[in-house]
Amino acid sequence: MPERAERVVAEVLGWYAGHQRDLPWRSADRTPWGVLVSEVMLQQTPVDRVVPYWTSWLQRWPTPRRLAGSTTADAVRAWGRLGYPRRALRLHAAALACVERFGGAVPSSYEDLRTLPGVGDYTAAAVVAFGFGGAAVVLDTNVRRVLARVFVGRALPGPSVTVAERVLGAAVLPVGPRVAATWSVAVMELGALVCTARSPDCGGCPIAPDCRWLAAGSPPAQGPARPTQRFTGTDRQVRGLLLAVLREDDAAVPSHRLDTVWPDPVQRDRALATLVADGLAEALPGGTYQLPQRGSRHRVSTVGPSYGNENLSTRRKPTDS
Ligand code: SF4
Repeated sequence: MPERAERVVAEVLGWYAGHQRDLPWRSADRTPWGVLVSEVMLQQTPVDRVVPYWTSWLQRWPTPRRLAGSTTADAVRAWGRLGYPRRALRLHAAALACVERFGGAVPSSYEDLRTLPGVGDYTAAAVVAFGFGGAAVVLDTNVRRVLARVFVGRALPGPSVTVAERVLGAAVLPVGPRVAATWSVAVMELGALVCTARSPDCGGCPIAPDCRWLAAGSPPAQGPARPTQRFTGTDRQVRGLLLAVLREDDAAVPSHRLDTVWPDPVQRDRALATLVADGLAEALPGGTYQLPQRGSRHRVSTVGPSYGNENLSTRRKPTDS
């Protein structure tokens, strides 16, 4: 590793030792399952909102087998207002896959993790590093921003991970699984707390002397600004309102109750249809609806594309339903 990169790694590790947040999925008794749950929840939701959901989720389902023994309705209901509720289905399907193919355990290899529903490159690498203490190139939004500024001199990375970023991430990764895993969480924490997207605290940054972007005068990001996502009035808002009604009831809900959540019937029907198509609601005879009732006795496809896949560029976006 070049001398400059070695210095950056050492400084970030030293800073992390004194500044890391006390998050439950980082505790000494954490499990790979707890780490996987945290990573899925954090994909599009801020840390402070995730903590209470993660805590109650792990109390109820401390292992994949326990979650696999519950229904998808239980998972969606427990997901509450965390946003992007298809993640609850993905976690449930991942739990089933762990039971059916890995003896009830979260697999430890990157390749096996990638076969779990909803687990893409970032999440697999994060579970290897944070769940198993292994060496993996973990590139989330925060890490990519720090690396882009320090080593490339760019204000912000592009919308999706490039080969050059992977090469850089691998080049900077310290040798040795433990220190590599600690580096991964440390640089992520620096990006979350110091080298933030909008107002980096360069004065308090341990690697400021080695930062190319700072040395270049902190030039603004190139290209068009990324659009901010609107929520109010969108189908996503309507989906959230419909799902809230379905979550309230164990029994099927008649459609007239759903009609009350949104005045525009066209948009309401469209939102409801997408909930059904996504597997988040089931349409029953007689015009009633309920949460999906798939469970451990109902075999669910564990590789199905209907659960989608993670998208690195969307990590830690504002939440919705
Ligand atoms: S000096 Fe500023 S821009 Fe560079 S890594 Fe530190 S906080 Fe980020």
